[in-house]
Formats: sequence, structure tokens, C-alpha cells
Amino acid sequence: LREDPSFWKDHNVQVIIRIRPLSSSEISVQGNSKCIKQESCQTITWTGHPESRFTFDLVADEHVSQENLFKVAGLPMVENCMGGYNSCMFAYGQTGSGKTHTMLGDIEGGTRRHSVNCGMIPRVFEHLFTRIQKEKDIRKDEKLRFTCKCSFLEIYNEQILDLLDPSSTNLQIREDMKKGVYVENLKEMEVTSARDGAANRKVAATNMNHASSRSHSVFTCIIESKWESQAVTHHRFARLNLVDLAGSERQKSSGAEGERLKEATNINKSLSTLGLVIMNLVNISNGKSLHVPYRDSKLTFLLQAVVNEDASGDVVAMRLQIQQLKKEVSRLRSFVNGRT
Ligand code: ADP
Ligand code: MG
Repeated sequence: LREDPSFWKDHNVQVIIRIRPLSSSEISVQGNSKCIKQESCQTITWTGHPESRFTFDLVADEHVSQENLFKVAGLPMVENCMGGYNSCMFAYGQTGSGKTHTMLGDIEGGTRRHSVNCGMIPRVFEHLFTRIQKEKDIRKDEKLRFTCKCSFLEIYNEQILDLLDPSSTNLQIREDMKKGVYVENLKEMEVTSARDGAANRKVAATNMNHASSRSHSVFTCIIESKWESQAVTHHRFARLNLVDLAGSERQKSSGAEGERLKEATNINKSLSTLGLVIMNLVNISNGKSLHVPYRDSKLTFLLQAVVNEDASGDVVAMRLQIQQLKKEVSRLRSFVNGRT
């Protein structure tokens, strides 16, 4: 895996494929045979008929540890946010492919500093607070202050539930000239250490929907910093979203009734809206005039804040990001459509 920071600088959007190890039940059925062969750190071959090759920014095979994946994918995002840029990470894939393992991982280690299997979110916390302390030490003269607020929500059947507040039901998204897009009454916990973060995650984990493969979970960390230089107060604000999407397997609506039918319809709709939003943003960057249907799903409505802030903060970066996105989406599409 590449840890070269210059590689990331030029690529605003990255698609990483993570291959998980076969489970013991898979091994008992198919032995060690696999349908995917890794060719290089960017290429894989699907060994079916016809055999096909796919290229991504990175391929992380089953031997890549949680720690290494964090270094390559999570760490640059924390660094981005420290610099005042928004970042977003989606875990996309079928149920059982390793999304939750990657994003949250094993949190049973509790407040212990390190559990080898803990995933992206706990590692983001740990790195964030180490970095904040370092920055404060280096820039003592500037009266540097940081605040870090976190929220953790779940979107299930197009209803938003606060994972940090189990008594919440059906929270609403609002828009405000000053605040932008936000979720009304969503708990934002101020976190002052990685330990605090772990405690909150435990609360969140116990509140997660049992049908978590059919819901999206969105962890948001808002990092704000203020400092003074040459008698001017500076203010920086960035948002990091880590999203564990609902399973991407086609949700069968045939034969389903009641709750199951509603779930299937909502998941298909929110994932296809996410795809459409990305495609339209790409086409707009190519000069087309299109409507971006952010409001067609709660997920895209919520994440719209990130897109807008980025655009106003740095239009050039946004354009670059969209150009990259275009390539990645078509790659991902051909991969996913062809193989699931
Ligand atoms: P998803 O959230 O996509 O439905 P999970 O994260 O729950 O999938 O993963 C399914 C199972 O596979 C879990 O038991 C998980 O611990 C295991 N697993 C997933 N990815 C890995 C990995 N990279 N290494 C070891 N075990 C993994
Ligand atoms: Mg999961």
C-alpha cells in the first residue's frame, strides 16, 4: 500500500477496493478458491467468464491490517480536516463484504488505546487528538484552540435516528442561511479525548439498528479551530463524514410486503440517488446544466452540506474532485454492475 502523501495531494477522490479474507464457512464450501486475483497494488482480475481486469486507486488485499488501511485512507482525511477541508468516506458493498469491519471494526477493546481490529472511526479519533496536541505545542504563541464535536446517526427507512440519543425518533433535516444543512435536535457531543470518543461509540453501538445492513450510518466529526496571528483572529471549520452504507445487494421487492417492501424501496432509492447525485455533479463540471437531486434521499440531503461548503471554499479543488470522481464512478459502476 502506498503511504506517499504526494500521491494523495493530486487526487481528491479515491476509490479503494478492500478484499476481505474468506470466512470459515466460505472455506468449508469452496476451499481456498477465490474469484478475484490481485495483479498489482491497483489492479485486480475477476476470474469468471469472461475474465476481466479492473483498475482502482488502490487494492487492499486480505492481508492489509486495519492500521495500514487507516494510514493510507483515514490519516490523509484527518490531515485534510486539520487544514480546514471537508472530507467524506463511504463504505460501499454487499452485506458481509466488510463495511462495518472497516469503518468501526472491533470496538470491544473499549477505552483501551489500541485494539488491533478497531477500524477507521476509533483510529480517526486517536490520530486527531494526537495531531491537535502536536499542533497546540508547535503553535503556542497563536493561542490556538480546537473544538471537536461528533454526531452519529442512522438513516433507516428514510428516518433519521440519533445513535447517541436512543429516545430520538424521526429527526428532521433543516436548512438555515447561517448553519447550512443540519439535523434538528441531533446530539453533538463535544469530544476532548480519544477516550471520550470510545465511550460515545459504545453508546452508539448499543443503539444501532438490528437491521443495520439495511440502514446507513453516518458518523460526523466537526473540527473547529481558532488562532491569532498579527492581531487577527482566524477561524477554520471542517467536517469529516464517515458513512457505512446499507448493503448494496439488490434489494428484492418482488414478493416483499409491508415493512420489507418499504425497506427495499428506500434502500434502492437512496443508493441510486447517491449515484445520480455524483453523476450529475460530474456532468455539471463538464458544462451541462442539470438538477442535482440532493433532496431525493435523506443521505444526500445531509451530505449536501459538505459539497456546498467545499464549492464555496475552494472551487478549483471541487472541479478537480469532480473530474476525478467521473473516472472513479464509471470504473466502480462497471465493476459493480458486472459482478453483483
Ligand atoms: P458488512 O458491514 O459489509 O455487512 P461486516 O463488516 O459485518 O460486513 O463483515 C462481515 C464479516 O467478515 C464479519 O464477521 C467481519 O468481522 C469479517 N470481516 C470483514 N472484513 C474483514 C477483514 N478485512 N479481515 C477479517 N475479517 C473481516
Ligand atoms: Mg455492516
